Amino acid sequence: MSEHRTGAPGRVKEVTSLANPLVKDIKALALKKFRDSQNAFLAEGLKLVIDALDLGWSIKTLVFAKTAIGNAAVEKVAARTVAAGGTVLEVSEKVLTAITRRDNPQAVVGVFAQRYMPLKDIRPERNDVWVALDRVRDPGNLGTVIRTVDAVGAKGVILIGETTDPFSLETVRATMGSIFAVPIAKATPEAFIAWRKGFHGLVAGTHLKGAVDYRSVEFSNRPVLLMMGNEQQGLPDNLAEICDRLLRIPQAGRADSLNLAVATGVMLFEIRRSALKLDPEA
Ligand code: SAM
Repeated sequence: MSEHRTGAPGRVKEVTSLANPLVKDIKALALKKFRDSQNAFLAEGLKLVIDALDLGWSIKTLVFAKTAIGNAAVEKVAARTVAAGGTVLEVSEKVLTAITRRDNPQAVVGVFAQRYMPLKDIRPERNDVWVALDRVRDPGNLGTVIRTVDAVGAKGVILIGETTDPFSLETVRATMGSIFAVPIAKATPEAFIAWRKGFHGLVAGTHLKGAVDYRSVEFSNRPVLLMMGNEQQGLPDNLAEICDRLLRIPQAGRADSLNLAVATGVMLFEIRRSALKLDPEA
């Protein structure tokens, strides 16, 4: 490993070896146990990294391809990383491919500190909308839900029980950057049920046995907690019991149910119907 200066202020480490300990640590972030022990995760792409920095996320390491040398935006991000006390690595394509586990990797990758919102700090008011996901298993579903929560202007996501990791590479990719905009909390079922007792608003569960058409409910002008069930099993009884209403999305055809992320999207656009305008100024 050698060090040299590029056009970016601050020192940049040049790394070409997969055996480099810094690279090994970043590659290890593919596994949850290392993401948790390092309290870190990866986000790919220059735009995402800039958005994350703008939103106040703490960058540990910026990795960029040699091909990005001379790119003013990349050099600015490198300078911000150094100013924030982070490390900057200039790497070969081979190293980037290994870190991201993809051919044709993005030229810029950021390693950020994970961040969870404590459940006790969530105190919904006015027309705030939160989504609670019971034991979500699929990273694509979780990422899509986080992206949709962002898109409709809901406030955040509560993960109940054993769930897929919101900071896995696959989930982060599926969020398309919304991981940095949407607060995430996690809770055991017991802690969640205890917290729900202090929630003053509508707790809307979705259930295939729900007797109420989701379009018949007035969601506006009060906080809403939307509860979605696990992909295989749906909401268990102890979570269904704490809902004010169990809602169903009517279906035709042969499908038993909707995909979790699709059902969440349908619900969120209905819940936020009156808040969403094509032109908010109109
Ligand atoms: N076999 C599961 C069950 O019995 O509930 C299917 C779960 S479904 C794939 C995942 C979640 O999406 C459900 O728990 C529910 O929250 C939501 N969902 C899917 N289709 C729905 C529908 N038609 N009405 C209400 N919720 C639905």
